[in-house]
Amino acid sequence: MAGIVVQKYGGSSLAGADAIRRVASRIAARRRAGDDVVAVVSAMGDATDELAALALSINERPDRRELDVLLSTGELVSCTLVAMALDALGERARSLAGWQAGIHTTARYGRAQISSIDVSPIRAGLRDGNAVIVAGFQGVAPGRDVTTLGRGGSDTTAVAVAAALGAGRCEIYTDVDGIYTADPRLVPGARRLGEIGFEEMLEMASLGAKMQPRAIELAMAYGVPTYVASSFADAPGTLIHEGGDMTTETGVGELRKRVRGIVTDGGFAKITLLGVPDRPGLAARVFEPLSAADISVDEIVMNAGPDAFTDFTFTVRAADLGAALEVVRPLTEEMGGRGTVGAGGLAKVSVVGTGMRDEPGYASRMFGALAGRGINIELITTSEIRITCIVSEDRLGDSARALHEVFELG
Ligand code: ASP
Ligand code: MG
Repeated sequence: MAGIVVQKYGGSSLAGADAIRRVASRIAARRRAGDDVVAVVSAMGDATDELAALALSINERPDRRELDVLLSTGELVSCTLVAMALDALGERARSLAGWQAGIHTTARYGRAQISSIDVSPIRAGLRDGNAVIVAGFQGVAPGRDVTTLGRGGSDTTAVAVAAALGAGRCEIYTDVDGIYTADPRLVPGARRLGEIGFEEMLEMASLGAKMQPRAIELAMAYGVPTYVASSFADAPGTLIHEGGDMTTETGVGELRKRVRGIVTDGGFAKITLLGVPDRPGLAARVFEPLSAADISVDEIVMNAGPDAFTDFTFTVRAADLGAALEVVRPLTEEMGGRGTVGAGGLAKVSVVGTGMRDEPGYASRMFGALAGRGINIELITTSEIRITCIVSEDRLGDSARALHEVFELG
């Protein structure tokens, strides 16, 4: 029996009739090579943004249920057109909306999570000799309401479908040819990685490299090797998979003792509550109203001082700075703190690699490299396989280039 491959095509790969025809011929070629193809598609180009803007122009607070149905139509346009383009090439094809494809989700509009997939409609389509084209980013909640999975959700659809079908792998086709050691726009010497481990990719995805982190989590949980490559060229891409193979770069060989990549992300602001009395419940008192105001907090640093007071620092997206200050300023005052300071213009630069686990020396090399360029570190946070420094946004490029060089990633 032929293998099943699940492919995903992003919006920029589907922007216009010619692009859709090109995607169809890629799917056709894959079928002729003997594979059963399930293709998950995003909306054409900027269709999702345009639909969202249209909704907002009509109602400032669109009903979330209605909005989800509206946004889901972007993917219906692309999946039906891809099926028609395949038909024009003489290939059998069938499109399926999320609900038709058996994609069941929670009822949280705009951010629904996939709860299960009934693969029988997709399997039936394949059995009848079709390429099955699934509308990404959407599903159906109990009660039959259409839901969407959040921006970039088609990646998650694709990995979930691949996992449910037990497909050999999931292929994500996009406008870049893979995952890089750093953002090539900042670091001219950045190199495409042939492969990367799930854990490392998860850190990279949540720090700004383009792929929905939820998709990587799913791929890791279900062991779905995921290949990211360009839909515009036949150049090789990056395989995201489990390490542990001596024959590969991410394996147990000596190369694993390495930093895998430098991740950069701009547009942050930092807020500090100065000299607040240190007592139980402090953190909860600060973060409950922030989350009630829908402000998501990124990094948090607190250290109980030697006296009864502490400084409390956290970062938010720069766009949320004003709103966050409005929430915490009165709180600092109520708690008897010395004051509140906040400033934007910050960025994050991180080094990521499982090789850093249990290996000393990476942090000092990182801090040394930044110091060597006179770059001030505003805040440091770490995970087992990542070290992050917050620096001034205008030094982000310098920071990334310095680290890329020091960790010999070129
Ligand atoms: N069309 C949706 C978006 O633009 C989903 C996706 O592209 O993955 O976010
Ligand atoms: Mg899109």
